[in-house]
Amino acid sequence: MKLCFATNNAHKLHEISLLLPASFVLVSLDQIGCHEELAETQDTIEGNSRQKAEYVWEQYGVQCFADDTGLEVAALNNEPGVYSARYAGSQRNSEDNIDLLLKNLADKPDRLTLPRGAQFKTVITLVLGDITHQFEGIVKGEILRGRRGKGGFGYDSVFLPEGYNHTFAEMNTEEKGRISHRGRAFEKLLAFLKSQ
Ligand code: IMP
Repeated sequence: MKLCFATNNAHKLHEISLLLPASFVLVSLDQIGCHEELAETQDTIEGNSRQKAEYVWEQYGVQCFADDTGLEVAALNNEPGVYSARYAGSQRNSEDNIDLLLKNLADKPDRLTLPRGAQFKTVITLVLGDITHQFEGIVKGEILRGRRGKGGFGYDSVFLPEGYNHTFAEMNTEEKGRISHRGRAFEKLLAFLKSQ
């Protein structure tokens, strides 16, 4: 089955393509001729995810799924959340976002569950014709005081998943994909697709 993943983020496409059985052909936005930036104007992760998937289906007529992710930090009232990509401004720069996050958490103690506790949340919306489904994936962890690791993207270098000694940026793509928010949401998507 041909399925468009409504993203042009090469990291995400790679992560997901490793998990997808060979019976699915995963295509990117570029591959369906969509070269525009998809709007994300909703104020929830669920809303943005749905907005992107429905847009691709309506404009391009391709069965697709879209994801939206946010990092929710308990001590910051679950910010940056839906604004994770542009936390430090419209330039959407990951290094600036991490700097701001570390600054805002500077006076919070280490290693206690709450003060630096955080979770990544992904919501995937699947649009198959007039059927729309959403799948949620969450990974809990904590925000470190500094960066560790060179892999991944976004906030990976400061996120230590619960029960692990390596940040997401210190894991390889397969390892991260097995436990990550996106991997977990994607597993649910996959189980659903297989049940159809
Ligand atoms: P998006 O909705 O997937 O584009 O994610 C919004 C923002 O959340 C991204 O710009 C990243 O800053 C952050 N983010 C999403 N997924 C990840 C991840 O797997 N690791 C680290 N940061 C992520």
